[in-house]
Amino acid sequence: MRGLRVNLRIGVLALQGAFAAHCECLASVGVEPVEVRSPAQLESVQALLMPGGESSTMSQLLESSGLFPAIANRLSAGMPTFGTCAGMILLASEILDGRSDQHSFSAIDISVRRNAFGRQVDSFESSISTPIGEFHGVFIRAPRIERVGANVEVIGTLGEEPVLVRQGNVLAASFHPELTGDARLHEYFVTTVSNMRKV
Ligand code: GLN
Repeated sequence: MRGLRVNLRIGVLALQGAFAAHCECLASVGVEPVEVRSPAQLESVQALLMPGGESSTMSQLLESSGLFPAIANRLSAGMPTFGTCAGMILLASEILDGRSDQHSFSAIDISVRRNAFGRQVDSFESSISTPIGEFHGVFIRAPRIERVGANVEVIGTLGEEPVLVRQGNVLAASFHPELTGDARLHEYFVTTVSNMRKV
């Protein structure tokens, strides 16, 4: 374990999807993950990771658990948040090809089209340029970022395509960074979060 020696409680939204592997990545960089399924659990964390999975199902579960308004409040108060794949869809300001009853937090000014990335729409892996160097990205029915707002920084690309973006305390990736045993992007998020400790 590398151990970042940061005293942060980072929540992992654990309603559905790939949350367990994110918890392992956080633990491997020395941060204790907290599974979040309720507003009370959200209150105990300083930052949140929103995993891949099925964004329309997660949207429903966010409503029924009472977490949607709770997370929306925390996001507007500046909670550092990292959304991956379906998690990115949940953070986006516009969802294209979403279900009509699917909601998002509008926490990062991007338009994302569900299930649209790459020629192999189902799944593929590729090397991505990121602030921490080349990273092996796993894309699973991945959302494509079709528009990036003026306040959004593109910090990771696959060829010409934006796949890792940031707006203030919000980070979003169209791929799954948690599936290859490489926790450098989790470490980047934690380091970024710990540099911004005002939440
Ligand atoms: N296609 C999924 C959705 O729209 C996202 C896929 C993923 O998270 N791996 O929610």
